[in-house]
Amino acid sequence: MDERKPSNEVPSRLFLDMHTEQNPSVDMEQIVGKQDILFICLDTLRYDAAAAEEKAQGTPVLNQFGPWEKRQAPGNFTYPSHHAMFAGFLPCRFDAKSLAEREMLFFPKSIGMGNQAPKGAFAYEGSTIMEGLLKAGYDTWCVGGVSFFDKRSDLGKVFPGYFEKSYWKPSFACTVKESPKNQVDFILKKLEKAEESKRIFLYLNVDAIHYPNYFYLDGAREDSLLTHRAALRYVDKELGRLFQVWRERRDNGFVICCSDHGTCYGEDGCLFHGINHPVVNVVPYKHFFIRKRGIDEADISR
Ligand SMILES: [Zn+2]
Repeated sequence: MDERKPSNEVPSRLFLDMHTEQNPSVDMEQIVGKQDILFICLDTLRYDAAAAEEKAQGTPVLNQFGPWEKRQAPGNFTYPSHHAMFAGFLPCRFDAKSLAEREMLFFPKSIGMGNQAPKGAFAYEGSTIMEGLLKAGYDTWCVGGVSFFDKRSDLGKVFPGYFEKSYWKPSFACTVKESPKNQVDFILKKLEKAEESKRIFLYLNVDAIHYPNYFYLDGAREDSLLTHRAALRYVDKELGRLFQVWRERRDNGFVICCSDHGTCYGEDGCLFHGINHPVVNVVPYKHFFIRKRGIDEADISR
């Protein structure tokens, strides 16, 4: 494909604003190659649950990095959502009026979209951000997660196959209460042996909030929005451990933390996800830096 050709698939006037007016929240050109990048997907986390825990101080680790943004899910279940996110189409601002109003952190060079990377975006080569980051010198790690990352079936090998290194263990499965602890323990062990000079892109699929999650709330016998929130509180503590050690060992890192879709607990008669419902289509999102400096003032060990 000739990159100089204007895109004829998307109205070009959409991109006038994208290239002239938007101020990006981060400059990925200053991050890529210089910092580790951690993409943490809190699989299935609902925006309303995340916002409620933020307000109730149930997630002190994540709270210290600013409020959740309300965003549109790229898909209504893990598979479509991750195909979009791994191509750079992260959850988009909830109130965006057009494609051009989504902030692109990673811009796929090979797909139209005006053919010119917006300000602040890292224009990557290849079919996924992992391929682009590999070309930019990153070691790419995948730690699953839900069965789309379990490498136990053909479908479960698709996403892990996009990474240089991919890992899944039975102790990471949704049905294991301690799965976030087991995932973080595993990552921290891998980190001990990682080359200091080689930048890491880590994708972590946290599946604790996904069904089943009733065991995170004492006395609960089935999943509900309350047990979903309790799972998030458990995850928050484990992320605190991950961030603390990452800062100590690797200095700085840029973190993208979001959900891929929500899920229904009986709203309007709906159950689970894979269907379009407002609580499935709206997700929490934030990106932030973890820096060595400031670790003393941020007490994340509680
Ligand atoms: Zn999912």
